[in-house]
Amino acid sequence: MSVKTVFLCVIIAFCSLCFSCGESDKTPMSSAERNVYRSESKVGKESSPHCVTVYRYDDFPLATAETLCKELRKTFPEVKLSDTVLELPAKYYLKERNRYSASGLLNDLKSRSNCDAVIGLTNRIIYHANEISSTYGIMGLSRIGTHSCVVSSRIPASGKTHSIDNFVKLALHELGHAYGLPHCPDQHCYMVDAEHKMKFPHTTGLCTSCHSKLKAAGWKLK
Ligand SMILES: [Zn+2]
Ligand SMILES: [Zn+2]
Repeated sequence: MSVKTVFLCVIIAFCSLCFSCGESDKTPMSSAERNVYRSESKVGKESSPHCVTVYRYDDFPLATAETLCKELRKTFPEVKLSDTVLELPAKYYLKERNRYSASGLLNDLKSRSNCDAVIGLTNRIIYHANEISSTYGIMGLSRIGTHSCVVSSRIPASGKTHSIDNFVKLALHELGHAYGLPHCPDQHCYMVDAEHKMKFPHTTGLCTSCHSKLKAAGWKLK
């Protein structure tokens, strides 16, 4: 089987952080909750530049979104901060855990972009089912190769807000997934698997392998 015919089987990639969310809720995922998607990886298949549309949800701070866009413009040829502020739909709100379904937000978001990729920013905690909990708090969610992702500025375990530095790293991490990258074994690479920990402060950039793949995918990398 050639590389071109290989389809990624596990398409949901998520960064999990929360240390305590699963303690009182060990409900295993149902098959319906696993949300395993199939999509062809696009890494290395495109060489044209890309643009990214950034959406804010509800009261996500404009200043933070603008700072993020400024940082993303170092990596993407064009980054548009949409004037449209999206509502967090009530149907995705889980009152008993005070958090929103990342998968639900992502499903709505992917059809909105007028660019090549879309990223949604929220300052509310988001969740996604995993082996620990069906409502596990996560930092961000992307489906590999679909050019869409959602990130939260809130750290699920503490409820505190990410530093802008870590938030930018988180956004780049999820966009890396959105452009087709899986997690990376290099512990200093932005694409490292969080493995329920906060690893972004220890990451320094994209490793050589991830760098070359994203450059081939159209990212503005030196
Ligand atoms: Zn990830
Ligand atoms: Zn890497």
